[in-house]
Amino acid sequence: DVLISETVDFAGLLLSEAVLHGLKNAGFERPSPIQLKAIPLGRCGLDLIVQAKSGTGKTCVFSVIALESVEVAATSTQVLVLAPTREIAIQIWEVVKSLGSAMPSLRCHTFIGGLPLHEDKKKLQLCHIAIGTPGRIQNLIEAGCLKTDSIRLFVMDEADKLLEESFQEQINWIFSSLPDNKQMLALSATYPEYMAQHLTVYMRNPTFIRLNITDPTLLGIKQYYTGVASHPLPHKVFEAKTAAVVDLLSSVSFHQCLIFSNMQTRAQNLENELTSRGWPTTCIAGSLGQKDRITAMAKLKTYKCRVLISTDLTSRGIDADRVNLVINLDVPKDHETYLHRIGRAGRFGETV
Ligand code: ADP
Ligand code: MG
Repeated sequence: DVLISETVDFAGLLLSEAVLHGLKNAGFERPSPIQLKAIPLGRCGLDLIVQAKSGTGKTCVFSVIALESVEVAATSTQVLVLAPTREIAIQIWEVVKSLGSAMPSLRCHTFIGGLPLHEDKKKLQLCHIAIGTPGRIQNLIEAGCLKTDSIRLFVMDEADKLLEESFQEQINWIFSSLPDNKQMLALSATYPEYMAQHLTVYMRNPTFIRLNITDPTLLGIKQYYTGVASHPLPHKVFEAKTAAVVDLLSSVSFHQCLIFSNMQTRAQNLENELTSRGWPTTCIAGSLGQKDRITAMAKLKTYKCRVLISTDLTSRGIDADRVNLVINLDVPKDHETYLHRIGRAGRFGETV
C-alpha cells in the first residue's frame, strides 16, 4: 500500500508551471496513486467517479483538475465544487488556495450556510472557483447571484453523501441549473452499490477509477472494541461509556483524538463529563452557530484541543493530520459511516 509513486513526480503529469509551483509550496512532491491515475484522465475532460481510501489525497485530484481548467483572465465562475458539510467546504477552499498560490489572479471562495448572504454576493463579483454546501449554493443560484452559464466543471466531493435523501432535491435543482456541456467529477471513499449506478445518471459515460476498495480499511489503523454492560436505562449505559472513554484516554498514548457520538445531546454531555474529569475537550455539532463550528475546527487543526467530540458532522472529509485516535462512543448507523469515521486517523498513510 505504498502511497507515493516512486517513479513519477508531478511534472510527469504535464501540469502547468503555476500548478507545479503550488504543489511544491504545499509540500507535495510526488503524486499519490489516485492522483497519478485520476489527474491525467480528468485533464482529458472525462467525467470521473473516483473511489479511493480516506486520506489518500482526493482533494488534490479535483483541485488540480480545476486549477488547470480555469481561465483567470475571464471573470466568470467556471468551477463549482459541492461538499456535504461547511467544514469540508472550508477545508477544500484552503487546499485550492494553497495549490493555486502561484496564480495571483485566481479568485476562489466558499459559500456556506450560517454566514451572512450579503458577503457572498460581494465575493461572487469575481469568483472563478465556487466551493459550497448545497443549500447555500442553491440560494445563490436562485437569487441570480451565482451565474452558472460558464460553469465547465462540476465537482461532488463525498459524492455518495451528497446523493443521500436529505440532499437529493437540492442536488437535482443545482444540477438542472448547470449547462449540459460540462465535466463532472465525483469523489468518495465509499459508494454503496446502488449509489454508483445512481451517479451515472448525472454523468456522460463516466469512467470509474477505484483503488484498493476490496478492503477499504486503512492498513495503518488498528481497530479495537470495548464492551460496556447493557442496561435498560440509557443514562446508565452512557455513564458506563463515559467511564470507558476516560479509561482509554488515560491509558492510550495519542496526539489528538476524535470521539464520535450518534447523538448531539450525548456529545455535549460527554464534553462536560470529560472536562470535569480533567480532560479539556471541545465539542462540534450541527446545532452550534457557525462561528463556534469554525472555532472548534480551528482548535483541532492548530492542536489547541486534544480531544474533539463530534456528531457525524465531521465523520467525513475532515483532514487533521495529528488525529491518531478515533473513539466510537456508539456504533455508527452504517458501515460507510464507520469507515469514514476511523479514516479521520491515518491520513496519507500515517500509521497510528
Ligand atoms: P481524501 O480526500 O482522499 O480523504 P485529502 O485530500 O484530505 O484525502 O488528503 C489527505 C492528506 O494527504 C492531506 O493532509 C494532504 O495534505 C495530504 N496529501 C495529499 N496529496 C499529497 C501528496 N501528493 N504528497 C503529500 N501529501 C499529500
Ligand atoms: Mg476528502
